[in-house]
Amino acid sequence: MTKKRPKLEIKCFPVDGNYWFSKNSFFEKRHGLQHNAIDIFSIRGNMYLYPFDGEIVRVTYEESGSKAGNSVTIKSENGIYSFASHLDEVYAVEGRQVKAGNMGGKVGNSGNAEKTKPHVHQSFYTIYAKNKHSFLNPTKELLRLADPKLKSKIGWS
Ligand SMILES: [Zn+2]
Repeated sequence: MTKKRPKLEIKCFPVDGNYWFSKNSFFEKRHGLQHNAIDIFSIRGNMYLYPFDGEIVRVTYEESGSKAGNSVTIKSENGIYSFASHLDEVYAVEGRQVKAGNMGGKVGNSGNAEKTKPHVHQSFYTIYAKNKHSFLNPTKELLRLADPKLKSKIGWS
């Protein structure tokens, strides 16, 4: 039996304030592998907002050698995971229910992003077998939700 893949629906743009991201971010290479995420650049300390309702399933904190740094993963009711990393601060407790637009942390460059400008590494995925992720490309959804003023200022194409 094949299960239908849930459709990604983002309810809230994940960063508050001014931000910028590349439309190609998902397909760019990082350390030889496809990025599978969007890097949303912003000002350090701007709020990270949960993109949809869900349950907090994993929180990590900055420690030496960590790639993600401060990060939070939530899972929606239809089985889509949202992972946000490199946060400056994370305000999340595993097991809590959150709503789209609730604050999960602040934009930063923790983990292995210390040499990069502050941004949120935001990915979405489903899990189809033990530890097997299938990434969903959120570019269209993020462009749909992006502030028109920011779009015209920056020029996205
Ligand atoms: Zn990234």
